[in-house]
Amino acid sequence: MSAPRDRRSPADEPLGSITRPLVDDSAIAPACHACGARDLTRVRVALPDGRPAVFASCPACESTAWFVVDGDGRALGPDGTPRT
Ligand SMILES: [Zn+2]
Repeated sequence: MSAPRDRRSPADEPLGSITRPLVDDSAIAPACHACGARDLTRVRVALPDGRPAVFASCPACESTAWFVVDGDGRALGPDGTPRT
C-alpha cells in the first residue's frame, strides 16, 4: 500500500542536527497511538526506504511508533507496517 505521491522536501532537513528541535513535529506525531498522550518524545529519523520520519516514544505507556513525514499520519510499528 504505497501512496501515489512522491513528494520530497529537502528544504526542511537541517544538516548535522537531529537533537535540536528545529522543527515542530507535533503535527506529524500528534499523539500516542496506544494511550493518546500528547507529551511524546519525538526524534527525526529516516526510514530504510529513504522517507523522512518521526520516531515517537510515549513516556506514559512506553509505546513507540513511527510517523512518516508528509505521510497519512498513521502510526507505524517497528517493521513499518501500520499499527491498528
Ligand atoms: Zn502512550
